[in-house]
Amino acid sequence: MKIIDLRSDTVTRPGPAMRSAMAQADVGDDVFAEDPTVNRLEKMAADMLGFESALFASSGTQTNLLALLSHCQRGDEYIVGQQAHTYRYEGGGAAVLGSIQPQPIEFEPDSTLDLAKVKRYIKPDDFHCARTRLLCLENTQAGKALPMHYLASAASFAKDEGLQIHLDGARIFNAALKRNVSAAVIATYFDSVSLCLSKGLGAPVGSLLCASSELIREARKWRKMLGGGMRQAGILAAAGIFALAHNRQRLAEDHENAALLAQGLSDIDEIAVDFHEAQTNMVYVDFPSESAALLPEFLQQRGILVSGGAKVRLVTHLDVAEEDIQRVVEAYKEFFSG
Ligand SMILES: *Cc1c(COP(=O)(O)O)cnc(C)c1O
Repeated sequence: MKIIDLRSDTVTRPGPAMRSAMAQADVGDDVFAEDPTVNRLEKMAADMLGFESALFASSGTQTNLLALLSHCQRGDEYIVGQQAHTYRYEGGGAAVLGSIQPQPIEFEPDSTLDLAKVKRYIKPDDFHCARTRLLCLENTQAGKALPMHYLASAASFAKDEGLQIHLDGARIFNAALKRNVSAAVIATYFDSVSLCLSKGLGAPVGSLLCASSELIREARKWRKMLGGGMRQAGILAAAGIFALAHNRQRLAEDHENAALLAQGLSDIDEIAVDFHEAQTNMVYVDFPSESAALLPEFLQQRGILVSGGAKVRLVTHLDVAEEDIQRVVEAYKEFFSG
């Protein structure tokens, strides 16, 4: 029986074609900037997003941290969403390793940060306060693609306020597909973008920070300090090149499958489905708490893996096919009819 894993889009495994690209990769020492495959991936990503330069790193946590360390100095502040990955899920790295103070603000229901609220949190030029330096957005956030007009407003707001603006674009290609624009159009509104190769794009490892040559030079120094200077990393970069070349357009299938799943589950009275207009490859569902405790094991016995809890995120990806969605919906129906 095929295992259907809906816990995250990070669970994908590289297929034969990606593995073959990895096996055949030309490599060199990337700390000497001599790995031709890493260099090719960095140029490919920079060109794709319309930046001067890019830097390959082990994870999105690291590329976001590199961005924070490169934009901000000790005693600076970044404004960020309360539930944002760069605040909540990165171990407090900016504060621990950069002495950078976060100023978290609650996301709006559409995953934007209200710019009037952001403005109220910008610190005055006063020696009592940290120096507000950077605004961080996330796209997609909780699977939602931010509206394009919002990105334009946020960019001009940041400019007016003298702030840098960084995008945690772990799933920027999902956002671009949803908004029917290229990722480069989204990227025009930011000074730096971090993107993940190991989410829906299906590579086993890796993220890229894209920005100006000057910022990337700074980030490269921090990457080495963090122990992130990898040597013959071309083997990993080859998977990233394959992912960017072959797995971007097919993200649309993940969005369609998520919509099918949302639709199927909404027929079940006990499940509250929160599927937003802007949703991409994630479906958020609420269960009665007595069911929530029993569901993961019930589903696991039927070859379906989900996270526990009364509010759960179901994520579609490369290794989930349309026929799998039917199986998942049937399993939930079986649970609630039993
Ligand atoms: C996954 C993810 C990251 C990076 O996570 P890593 O596991 O460190 O690669 C960053 N931001 C968001 C929104 C993510 O979902």
